[in-house]
Amino acid sequence: MWIFLYFCMFFQKNTAELMVKSLLYNHLYAWYDANHRVLPWRETDDPYAIWLSEIILQQTRVAQGMEYYMRFVSRWPRVGDLAAAEEAEVLREWQGLGYYSRARNLHKAAQLVVENGWSPFPTRFEDIRSLPGIGDYTAGAIASFAYDQPYPAMDGNVYRVVARLLDIDEPFDTTVGKKLFHQHINTLLDRNHPRLFNSAIMEFGALYCTPVLGEACELCPLQSLCLGYAHGTAELLPVRKVRPKVRDRWFVYHIYTDGQQTLIRQRENPKDIWYHLYEFPCEETQDERRKAKGDRSISLTHILSHQKLHAQFVVHKVQKMPSIEGTSLIQWDDLNDFALSRLTLRALDTLRLALPR
Ligand code: SF4
Repeated sequence: MWIFLYFCMFFQKNTAELMVKSLLYNHLYAWYDANHRVLPWRETDDPYAIWLSEIILQQTRVAQGMEYYMRFVSRWPRVGDLAAAEEAEVLREWQGLGYYSRARNLHKAAQLVVENGWSPFPTRFEDIRSLPGIGDYTAGAIASFAYDQPYPAMDGNVYRVVARLLDIDEPFDTTVGKKLFHQHINTLLDRNHPRLFNSAIMEFGALYCTPVLGEACELCPLQSLCLGYAHGTAELLPVRKVRPKVRDRWFVYHIYTDGQQTLIRQRENPKDIWYHLYEFPCEETQDERRKAKGDRSISLTHILSHQKLHAQFVVHKVQKMPSIEGTSLIQWDDLNDFALSRLTLRALDTLRLALPR
């Protein structure tokens, strides 16, 4: 039956399309009702809180994101509070989440919302989409979750579910693929209940139709509608284009200490990683064998999305602090006031016995 129905669906036979969609909604919503997680950002229609959660949760697990979300909402409960904060405070609160451009964009966007008179938050999709750090997915999520407007919210989970349901083997992370998937999700979207539809399909992908399927398909409530299951291709979907090569980089960090103070500097290249974060004086080297000497040293590897960092942290215990251009002398006790990368936090954690407390 389903092959006929899908065939009809893509040839714009309205009745068949409506039947398939109505079956899909019934099964999906029943599953969602029984299985969804209670998450604070899904229990509110405050667009500011939803926006914060969406930005925090990009590339972040829910358990970790929850802690940051609660901190941001309680420290800056309204968009105007966030706009009035210093960028350094926002980066400090963001510390440990990675992808710091998200925090800088969050802050910039809050300021734009206030400047444009859009407080508490813009209501038009185009205005939401125009803010820094907000792409189609986030704009769709805010418009549908906050205002129940009929826009899809295609996150990685939704791409996977749609690819499997419709057996799409076009890579979803190319311009052509994105366009194709958007056409399909716009066809599937429940225009009467966009908030519910987006919540349900995202949650279904996050919890049930996961990358590794195991036995899931056998008991799946959407099985009778799933072309990927019918064709035996579900586990192979979605297809990605070939990923760009990961670049290796080598850093040597120098941690100077006289027992009271140390030297740090702010990263200043907006095109490089960790813009505006603080770090110990550092040299980047092309020679992977190069090792510096000091009183104690550790080596760490740190993986970012497209870079693999090989870092050596060298502790230099000195009587008199050296003078190094571009650095600031700070008390060890004040180090917590500065936003540091996760790599630097890992190094401090590992070296804690060698450093002042
Ligand atoms: S049948 Fe399997 S692949 Fe299809 S929607 Fe269900 S869990 Fe996903």
